[in-house]
Amino acid sequence: MLVNATEMLLKARDGHYGVPQFNINNLEWTKAVLLACEEMKSPVILGVSEGAGKYMTGYKTVAAMVKAMVESLNITVPVALHLDHGSYEGCKACVEAGFSSIMFDGSHYPIEENVEKTKELVALAHANGMSIEAEVGSIGGVEDGVVGSGEIADPEECAKITALGIDFLAAGIGNIHGVYPANWKGLDFEALDRIHKATNNIPLVLHGGTGIPDEMIAKAISLGVSKININTECQLVFAEATRKYIEEGKDQQGKGFDPRKLLAPGVEAIKAKCKEKIELFGCAGKG
Ligand SMILES: [Zn+2]
Repeated sequence: MLVNATEMLLKARDGHYGVPQFNINNLEWTKAVLLACEEMKSPVILGVSEGAGKYMTGYKTVAAMVKAMVESLNITVPVALHLDHGSYEGCKACVEAGFSSIMFDGSHYPIEENVEKTKELVALAHANGMSIEAEVGSIGGVEDGVVGSGEIADPEECAKITALGIDFLAAGIGNIHGVYPANWKGLDFEALDRIHKATNNIPLVLHGGTGIPDEMIAKAISLGVSKININTECQLVFAEATRKYIEEGKDQQGKGFDPRKLLAPGVEAIKAKCKEKIELFGCAGKG
């Protein structure tokens, strides 16, 4: 059974650890993440971007697959299925499809319009027992073709959005999606502290977790971050393991071309990466 992400994030906030959001792209990805989290006894949020949802043929397919997989793998840790960077329409579609959590990314709207749409979606999500994340200050880099400029969120705007009853807040603090450039300045911890103080202790979300140094992640958790999103990093290790398998000619030996064999090293690489992150975030044994 899926749960919403509210309780697991409140526990993380109070226990000073982070819950991972691992984004999923297909069946193998989902299986790898669920097995790693079960093994580590960690709660988990499965993130699905609108692009990944489309790729997997729609939100209904994703919800049905995840629910069935949680059952058939006997997963006992709390699992939330969460729309990542949802549009207004995407959020509504995921409520219909049976997700347990949504993120409304209204950061590109003027703040008044972001407030109005967020308010409506908060009511819709809560009426359906779902949790909802909102974003203030766009997060840099490219995600599904949406380019953010890496702003530092305004604490007053954060307070305004938080007051609408959202369950957790994504606020830009210099973090970006994808691989960080060599000249990246790092996270702005003063901004994070100001945002944390302005938002009534709401669990905060750190997007673009790939490539942020471990000690910065630990500091962010100590300053109120309870959810950390990991996407690119799993893609990189999956690609690397798959490339190695093919470069070693293993797909040409025996039945090495069988997709169950061909994709196995990538799956193992995702599992190892998830376990590494769970250790770093301090959420092992919390599920
Ligand atoms: Zn993001």
